[in-house]
Amino acid sequence: MSGIGKVGVIGAGQMGNGIAHVAALAGLSVTLLDVAPAALEKAIATITKNLDRQVQKGQVSAEAKAAALAAIGTSTDYASFSDCDIVIEAATEREDIKKKIFASAIPHLKADAILASNTSSISITGLAAATDRPERFIGMHFMNPVPVMKLVEVIRGIATSDETYQAVVALAGKMGKTVATAQDFPAFIVNRILLPMINEAITTLHEGVGDVASIDTAMKLGTNQPMGPLELADFIGLDTCLAIMRVLYEGMSDSKYRPSPLLVKYVEAGWLGRKTGKGFYDYGVTPPKPTR
Ligand code: NAD
Repeated sequence: MSGIGKVGVIGAGQMGNGIAHVAALAGLSVTLLDVAPAALEKAIATITKNLDRQVQKGQVSAEAKAAALAAIGTSTDYASFSDCDIVIEAATEREDIKKKIFASAIPHLKADAILASNTSSISITGLAAATDRPERFIGMHFMNPVPVMKLVEVIRGIATSDETYQAVVALAGKMGKTVATAQDFPAFIVNRILLPMINEAITTLHEGVGDVASIDTAMKLGTNQPMGPLELADFIGLDTCLAIMRVLYEGMSDSKYRPSPLLVKYVEAGWLGRKTGKGFYDYGVTPPKPTR
């Protein structure tokens, strides 16, 4: 592969729109795909708003903003990926959904196209094995919010080729990101360390050791974190947090990763954090009000 010029992104949620944004600003041509047309409309509105903010801050010129928006096309049809050099999947964190997506996308891809997943925790080797191209399959784990966060964790599956790895490291660099390479074990590096901390914060809340405000204040001011763990959980999405804890619990066969029953309860309630307007905080009021 001589270089990546055209990128497909699957899933137009909070991560997919950020990946499309950063790829387009880096001069790549982008096709953003979702099952839900409404998600595509919302993603373009979000990208426009986030680009406007970068223009106001002087980080991006008005011309670069216009060029980036012009470089992003949207689609609900995998046939639009036929000329993509890489397709980055950033759909809902469920293995069955991701495997179905790959089955739908593969018939439309170029033979040498790379498939990458932005999964936070699902085995790259397992996802790769469900495709026709395990050697051209890799984990490309962006952080949220993608336009702001500098890191991409690159995860090599057991079959990932050196050529694929080098192409993806070069792409991440072109997108202005720094790479940390992780081996393919449950939740990789960042979430292996971060999610047990968030889960412990939820257990601390459940046991009544502190309320939402005291736990977040304690961790922000006591350990110099920019966001408290519960605020951060809302930001990530509580369904995503629960999915990652389940992968750790099952993948490591270790009870220390047991998801907090209170986290399960919030997800059952549909209180998934910022994206649904309510999680450990209620975002319907300003400033957001703790829900416990
Ligand atoms: P999200 O819920 O905001 O967006 C998911 C999108 O996928 C939705 O727009 C949904 O319509 C779409 N989708 C669902 N099924 C689909 C299908 N069959 N085909 C096409 N699109 C489909 O989720 P998100 O937070 O953007 O997370 C997406 C991925 O990124 C997950 O794998 C998650 O683990 C990972 N991730 C999330 C974060 C985070 O902080 N939220 C950080 C890093 C990685």
